[in-house]
Amino acid sequence: MSSVDTAIRLITTGAKQGETCSPDLADGPWVFDLQPKPSYGPGSSMFDIIPTGTPRQGQIPQQYRDASNEQLDARILAAKKTLGDRVVVLGHFYQRDEVVKYADFVGDSFQLANAAKASPAAEAIVFCGVHFMAETADIVSGPNQKVILPNLAAGCSMADMADIDSVEEAWAQLESIYGSAADADGRVPVIPVTYMNSSAAIKAFCGEHGGIVCTSSNAATVLEWAFERGQRVLFFPDQHLGRNTAKAMGIPVELMPMWNPSKPLGGNDAEALLESKVILWHGFCSVHKRFTVEQIDKARAEHPGVQVLVHPECPMAVVDAADAAGSTDFIGKAIAAATEPTTFAIGTEINMVNRLAAQYPQHEIFCLDPVICPCSTMYRIHPGFLAWVLEALVRGEVLNQISVGEAIAAPARIALERMLAARPGTVAAHVIGD
Ligand code: SF4
Repeated sequence: MSSVDTAIRLITTGAKQGETCSPDLADGPWVFDLQPKPSYGPGSSMFDIIPTGTPRQGQIPQQYRDASNEQLDARILAAKKTLGDRVVVLGHFYQRDEVVKYADFVGDSFQLANAAKASPAAEAIVFCGVHFMAETADIVSGPNQKVILPNLAAGCSMADMADIDSVEEAWAQLESIYGSAADADGRVPVIPVTYMNSSAAIKAFCGEHGGIVCTSSNAATVLEWAFERGQRVLFFPDQHLGRNTAKAMGIPVELMPMWNPSKPLGGNDAEALLESKVILWHGFCSVHKRFTVEQIDKARAEHPGVQVLVHPECPMAVVDAADAAGSTDFIGKAIAAATEPTTFAIGTEINMVNRLAAQYPQHEIFCLDPVICPCSTMYRIHPGFLAWVLEALVRGEVLNQISVGEAIAAPARIALERMLAARPGTVAAHVIGD
């Protein structure tokens, strides 16, 4: 099976049938770095609003923009060979194959943060993922290790939807309604819970306010932890992960108001907030928002017996219509566990789906979304950027370092450590990816 990049090029040259969400996907990411308005670039989050202050990537030297894939391949491999154990390259599941093939570890954001921690010999950690992942790697890695993001414009549109100023403002408004006194069981009015896909500042906020971090694998366990300590949860940035997880735990959706940071009280009345169990931040992932119940119905009609597996960042109706929902790790394990040839329709990022299809040729595996539309921000990492940062390391130069100051890193670490210490209880199984 050809990579997503190859498929896009074939489609744009007319050599292959199919569709992409943007013809601009055929261009190099540096084309978008030069646009006057900062943009997430072509792909799933291209229409999301970009907050001010989102990092921009300066122009990389011409030689990296002009190099062929073969030239970049030779340069990257030579630089990696020279650097040896002094560098570790991490590749997220959603990253393009043309970059993932150089990764020493491939995984989800949390697995990769652990891989960073488990590589103490590496002076440099090159993170082929997005900004919040590099921040997390910097928080958990050693003080002398430098974390590098090959393209500074590789953010995450979902993480960018919860900025620290809006979260602090929301917290102040909630305190004005709830006060800060604990109830008779010692539970405080509200516990902040942030998805791993959030800035270091948000993780630090949670660490400072008795809160915790979660992943899509352990969200139910983390919510249980939070309900042992609080009467309700403020969950950010992904409303869908929060809603799907809490619903599977038996919490009625009527008790999950949404918080829109641009409106007073998040667009709610005080009574709804007083009755609430989970307050959902108005955030979403544009990759997973593309999946629909109609796509599932079509897959079931065209492929009788198909197993539909989706990520819990998908809307609730999609998760409800699927056979199972869980993290990228859960989806991979569910396919690996199938002993008979099976047809799987998958609702997650296309690079990962294509890789699973290549890895398990005994099964028919396809993406629910018929249009090729990768994560825009993961797409910003291209082999040209990787060659650029690796060759700089060979010369002793550190480019694009992501560094989290200790004032933020220390409380963020507390929220991450609480997550690691949280233990699963008895929860509904449908949404849990462990
Ligand atoms: S797939 Fe969604 S949540 Fe993941 S990095 Fe891309 S925009 Fe962010």
